[in-house]
Amino acid sequence: MKPSLRRAATHTAGVTVLGATGSIGASTLDVIERHPERFFVAALTANSQWEAMLALVRRFKPACAALLLEDAALELEQAVLREGLPTHVVCGDAGLVHAATLEDADVVVAAIVGAAGLGPTIAAARAGKRVLLANKETLVLAGGLFMAAVREAGATLVPVDSEHSAIFQCLPVDYDGRPESCGVRRILLTASGGPFRQSPMAVLASVTPDEACAHPNWRMGRKISVDSATMMNKGLEVIEAHWLFGIDAGAIEVVIHPESVIHSMVEYVDGSVLAQLGQPDMRTPIAHALAWPDRIEAGVAPLSLSQLGSLHFSKPEAERFPCLELAYDALRAGGTAPAILNAANEVAVAAFLAGRIGFLDISRACAETVQRLAATPVSVLGDAIEADREARAVTRASLKLDAATMSS
Ligand code: NAD
Ligand code: MG
Repeated sequence: MKPSLRRAATHTAGVTVLGATGSIGASTLDVIERHPERFFVAALTANSQWEAMLALVRRFKPACAALLLEDAALELEQAVLREGLPTHVVCGDAGLVHAATLEDADVVVAAIVGAAGLGPTIAAARAGKRVLLANKETLVLAGGLFMAAVREAGATLVPVDSEHSAIFQCLPVDYDGRPESCGVRRILLTASGGPFRQSPMAVLASVTPDEACAHPNWRMGRKISVDSATMMNKGLEVIEAHWLFGIDAGAIEVVIHPESVIHSMVEYVDGSVLAQLGQPDMRTPIAHALAWPDRIEAGVAPLSLSQLGSLHFSKPEAERFPCLELAYDALRAGGTAPAILNAANEVAVAAFLAGRIGFLDISRACAETVQRLAATPVSVLGDAIEADREARAVTRASLKLDAATMSS
């Protein structure tokens, strides 16, 4: 253990929450509110939900609130002025970056959903912040560039995704990003299998968005809930694990574990397998990331193994979850391949949630787009952003979606 990692918090840390009105945002603010002596809210951001943001501004009185959409930001600003709240309202991409790089923010929680999170998250890393990463898409689109930005700016990166938090906790505290240097053989990434793990295959063609979002264990935003049902979420997490921990695709195995109690495992060369267990409640990994290397109360009920009785494990079926293999293929192909896959998936999931396509069309659309677009190297951020833009256009065209009615 590095002694420097054990120091107690010496001042109240300012926290910016990117994506504050979402599911991770709500869990983060719940944990922060339990520890006023350790944290204060410096800035909050959201897409367009100004009324939800106003409620948060009243509750936390941050110095800054950013909304992507200008009209919504104007509504918020008027309400803030009317009520005499001490918050400066900003908008647009520049507003989000402003919130992510605010001087008062020591910690930035990256919890925007989708590729839209890339810009502000990388800005936080470049500003040398302590970045708590929930937005896995940042690593999927530009993992190499993001990890380099973290290193160069001396930023601290702590994962929030429950599986990656588990792996982080099972690795040596001074892990240097090289599995061979500390005897790590494999990572075992657990997956619940989502709501359709045992549904007859014939039923999948006609499942509704609400059925796809009814996750058996976790309450999450609708996009990631659909990704859990297709297991694209696990595929994106394989890519996320590769970048976070320097582990090759071949040394990352996905294991179905329907109870979602073991959040992931690390296997060492001596045969030891270390696991992290807990309730399926995101406040645990969020509290871990906020306080690391300390531990703080998260409001999560203790786990009762005797009440649980048994835990189960199996291999994911390739035919049921084709998105998983698409993600492994994209990771092996490298360059812009993961960005292309992610963009195709974001368009297809938005179309599914809007009732425009069926559940099985999601994996079909992703496969078609990755087949049509060749991967090229990602040397600068613009390479990934351009691949994302092109893949969205190709996927919209193949699904016959009109760009004006499908904003994703
Ligand atoms: P959510 O849909 O509940 O919330 C998304 C947030 O992002 C909202 O505040 C929304 O206003 C904001 N947002 C949406 N589009 C935006 C845009 N274009 N520009 C700026 N802001 C925008 O999502 P969530 O479930 O909280 O997930 C957030 C991120 O965390 C995702 O990357 C997801 O994969 C990851 N994650 C979520 C969970 C979970 O339990 N929900 C677990 C692990 C990882
Ligand atoms: Mg996860």
